[in-house]
Amino acid sequence: MRIFGRHDAFLIGGLAIAVFVVSSRPLGELLDRAREIDHSRGLQLVPALFILAVVFLVNQVRKREEMRIEAAQATSRVAEMGRLVAFGQALARALDGDSIRAATTEHLPIIAPGRDVWAMFRTTGDWIPLTPVSEEVHPMLERAASRAIADPGASTDAEGDSSYCFPMVVGGTAIGAIGVSANPPLTDAQRSVLTAAAALLGASVKNAELFNEAHENSVRDALTGCFNRRHSMEVVDAELRRARRTRGTFSVVMFDLDHFKAINDRFGHLCGDAVLAQVGHRMKAVLRVSDIKSRWGGEEFLALLPETPVTGARRVVETLRQDLEQHPVLWNGHTVVITASFGIAEVMPGETDARAVIGRADAALYQAKQDGRNRVEVAELSVSQGV
Ligand code: GH3
Ligand code: MG
Ligand code: MG
Repeated sequence: MRIFGRHDAFLIGGLAIAVFVVSSRPLGELLDRAREIDHSRGLQLVPALFILAVVFLVNQVRKREEMRIEAAQATSRVAEMGRLVAFGQALARALDGDSIRAATTEHLPIIAPGRDVWAMFRTTGDWIPLTPVSEEVHPMLERAASRAIADPGASTDAEGDSSYCFPMVVGGTAIGAIGVSANPPLTDAQRSVLTAAAALLGASVKNAELFNEAHENSVRDALTGCFNRRHSMEVVDAELRRARRTRGTFSVVMFDLDHFKAINDRFGHLCGDAVLAQVGHRMKAVLRVSDIKSRWGGEEFLALLPETPVTGARRVVETLRQDLEQHPVLWNGHTVVITASFGIAEVMPGETDARAVIGRADAALYQAKQDGRNRVEVAELSVSQGV
């Protein structure tokens, strides 16, 4: 506990003067006595005492200065830690690329104040910036980040001496880098903070990737790459709500491969699986990115064509039917032709029941089967159905 605070200098000064006044006579006598000893014994006690007093004072001043610098450094470390914690908290709240980018863009310049700072990570061969990076400097930073992740043990200069890279290492693998301008030179403390920031950012990026992967796995069918039935049901519901809000429309397509059991029986289930995978590919190739492609079950598929009335849907579905027929699967020297029967239903104004519109598409599909397969049927719009 400190007895005197920093505002007590006046009080201490007063006390020192009082002590000096009180003890001036004994002090004077002491000095006289020292002079007598100097004189009688031939010693130099007074100058020696004076030198000792000066050395003591200088030492005290230097110690005070050292303590002041240490205190300033400690304060600055606490502030740096605070900025790092704020960055960590912002990243902990971010589970997708956009929010990680927003957190990085906001916090990295605070962590490295007065310096140019950027961050990038690599996924499936592409470098993705996490801070705003202009077209001109992108290739240069990409090269710098590539060098940094090639040798994560040694943080290397980005371009010449202009910036310094801190690799984002996750589970022993470098997935990206933070780069900062190296002028003025970075202190050890700044390097530690930026190394920690790179580790936090790397963990966050990886976490978001895994989260995304887990979500994709939960909504997609692995064999065809289409959405699964549960997810597509949710999408049909959401699209029905949107159509009611916007007074728009959309079409639902159900289709079922023809004589698929015969393919399994003749060429084996692996061939059947290859046919299903091919259907997934062809749906992706023919339909729009915004169209929802789903495996409804077994060899049945559902496609949702947003903002597409039945006339447009018929054209698209006829294209898909022909495309499937024209892209057979080659299996052990055999050409396995794929045909399917299709049913289309357009959502009716104000319709709320997803099962009703899917039911109409399904009924049209069975009509197509009955009419000879490998064809497209459109469901009748019926006021009694689905409302
Ligand atoms: P139709 O023209 O009337 O639709 O006849 P179909 O043979 O296509 O229909 P059916 O319902 O008789 O047979 C469907 C077959 O699909 C039976 C089932 O074993 C097979 N199947 C379902 N899921 C899979 C799968 O994931 N892989 C494989 N290889 N076959 C599957
Ligand atoms: Mg079938
Ligand atoms: Mg079937």
